[in-house]
Amino acid sequence: MQDYETARRDWNWDTFRSWLDYLPGQKLNIAYEAVDRHVLHGRGNKEALRWFGKSGERKSYTYADLKRETDRFARMLTDRGFGPRTRVYSLLGRVPELYIAALGTLKAGAVFCPLYSAFGPEPVRSRMAIGKAEVLLAGPRDYAKKVAPARGSLPNLKMVLLTPSGTAPAPDTVDLAEVLANTPAQFECAQTDPQDMALLHFTSGTTGTPKGAVHVHEAVIAHNATGRIALDLHEDDIYWCTADPGWVTGTSYGIIAPLCAGATMIVEEAEFDAERWYALLEREKVTVWYTAPTAIRLLMRAGADLPKQYDLSRLRFLASVGEPLNAEAVTWSAKVFGTPFHDNWWQTETGGIMIANYAAMDVKPGSMGKPLPAVDAAIVEIDNGGIIIIDEPNIPGQLALRAGWPSMFRTYLDEQQRYDKTFRKGWYLTGDLAMRDEDGYFWFVGRADDVIKSAGHLIGPFEVESALVEHIAVAEAAVIGIPDERAGEIVKAFVTLHHGFEPTDELRKDLLGHARKKLGSAIAPRQIEIADDLPRTRSGKIMRRLLKAREIGLPEGDISTLETPT
Ligand code: ATP
Ligand code: MG
Repeated sequence: MQDYETARRDWNWDTFRSWLDYLPGQKLNIAYEAVDRHVLHGRGNKEALRWFGKSGERKSYTYADLKRETDRFARMLTDRGFGPRTRVYSLLGRVPELYIAALGTLKAGAVFCPLYSAFGPEPVRSRMAIGKAEVLLAGPRDYAKKVAPARGSLPNLKMVLLTPSGTAPAPDTVDLAEVLANTPAQFECAQTDPQDMALLHFTSGTTGTPKGAVHVHEAVIAHNATGRIALDLHEDDIYWCTADPGWVTGTSYGIIAPLCAGATMIVEEAEFDAERWYALLEREKVTVWYTAPTAIRLLMRAGADLPKQYDLSRLRFLASVGEPLNAEAVTWSAKVFGTPFHDNWWQTETGGIMIANYAAMDVKPGSMGKPLPAVDAAIVEIDNGGIIIIDEPNIPGQLALRAGWPSMFRTYLDEQQRYDKTFRKGWYLTGDLAMRDEDGYFWFVGRADDVIKSAGHLIGPFEVESALVEHIAVAEAAVIGIPDERAGEIVKAFVTLHHGFEPTDELRKDLLGHARKKLGSAIAPRQIEIADDLPRTRSGKIMRRLLKAREIGLPEGDISTLETPT
C-alpha cells in the first residue's frame, strides 16, 4: 500500500490527471474514462455492473456490455438531433437503464441530471424547468402521474423515453426499449473539453430550496483519484454504494468512481432493509461498502445480533458520508464488522470527497478525517470583505477549500450571484463549521445555519447529538435552538429510541441528566422530546430546520426533498 502521508506532499491534481487516459488533443470524457478505456485495455470481459431488482431479478453487465449499451444510447440521442449541451433528465429508479442512460448521455457530450424517482410532481416540474430539460427518462406510471399533467409548462421538453414498456403507450412519448432495439451500437465518444458541462445535481435541500450545482467533465479526475484514495477502490473489488444517483453520492461514487477503478459495482434497487442488506453483503462478497449515517443508525437500531448471522468477512473497507458520523457508530462498526466506518466529508458543490479518514491512516472516531492529497482545506473566519485563516488548533470556524479542484461546481444554475458569494479571496466557503485538531484531523461542528447561540455560548448541534446517542436508549438525536427571552436561544433535542425502550417521563429525566453530566449545563438540552421518527431528506439527512419551523410555528419552507414514507 502506498504511503499517503509521504505521497500527499507531492501529489497534486496534475498527478491525478495523469491517472487517466484522456482523448486525443487533451479532450476528456467521463464515460470514456469509466467504461471505454477498460475495453480498449483488454478488460472488456470484467463484470462492471451487477444489478438486483426489487423482486429478485438479477442482471449482469461486463465492461464490454456497458460500452455497447452506452454507445447505443449515445447514438440514439445523436440520431434524434440531441448532443452537446442537451439536458437529459432521469426520473428512473435504480434500474440498469438509469446507469446506461447516465453514461450514454455523457458519451454523447450531453448533460445528465438524475432526479429521485420518488419525488412528487412539483419538485420534478420545478427542477426540470430550471434546468430546461429536453429529454426525460421515466417509468410510465411516474411520467403519467408527475410529468404529463405539467408538460404544457415545460416548453423545452422534446423527448420522453419510457421504460419499462407500458401496456398503453402514452401520447408524445417514446418506448426506450423499442428505439434502442432499432439503434446500432456504434458511436465514437464525444470529444468533450474538460470544461464542458457534464452533470447537473440538485443539493439535498436540508437547509432550504435545493440549488442546482453544475459539474464539468474534468470532475472525473477527482472521482477517480478520491475513489482510490478515500474508498480504497481497486480493480478486484466488489463495491456497493447504497446511494441513489438522485443524490450526488450515487453518481460520483455510485457510478463514476467504481467504474473508473475497473471494479465490479453492485446496484440494489430496493430500499433499506437490514436483513436484506446483510444478506447482500454476504452473498455478493462485497469488499468495499459506502453508505450514510442514516443507514448505519438503522442497522444499529436493528441490533448487533443480526449481523452475527451472516458471514461478512469479505468486507475490507467501509465508508460513510452525508452527515456527521458519531464516534459511537464508528466504534460499533469496528466491533460488528471488524473494520470501522471511515467518515468522509464533501458536498454536492465539491463534487467529490474532500476530507476523509482515508484508507492509509488511522481513523479518529467522530472526526471527518484529513483533507485528501491535493485538497487545501482551512478553518477561516469571515471578516467583512475578506477572510482570516485560523491557524491555531481546536478553534471553530467556517470550513473553506482553496478554489480550483477539478470537481468543483462551476455555478449554481440560474443563480450566478449566489455562486459568486460562496467564494472569497480564492477560497470556497462551505457553509459548514468545523475545527482542526493538533494532528490535522477535522471535526464537524454544525452547519452555519444550525448553530445555536445560547447565553453567550455557541453550540454545535453535533456535539450535543453525539452525547445523546451515547445513552443506551437513544437511536438518533436532532438538536435545535428555540427562541428564549433570557438566553437568546435554548437547546431542544428530539430523540428516537432503540427497540425495547419506552418513552416514559423517567427516561426523559434520565436523558436530561445524562446530557448535563456529559456536556455541562450551559450546553445540555433544556428540553428533550421523544419522537417516533425524525424528518429527513431523501438523501437521509435530518432536517433540523423543519423541526425548528414546526416547533416555533413558522412556515415549513421548501420540503420538496422530505422523505415521505412509501
Ligand atoms: P442544501 O445545501 O440544499 O441545504 P445539503 O447541504 O444537505 O443540502 P448535500 O450537498 O447533499 O446537500 O450535503 C452536503 C452537506 O452534508 C455538507 O455541507 C455537510 O453539512 C453535510 N455532510 C456531508 N458529509 C458530512 C460529514 N461527514 N460530516 C458532517 N456533515 C457532513
Ligand atoms: Mg448544502
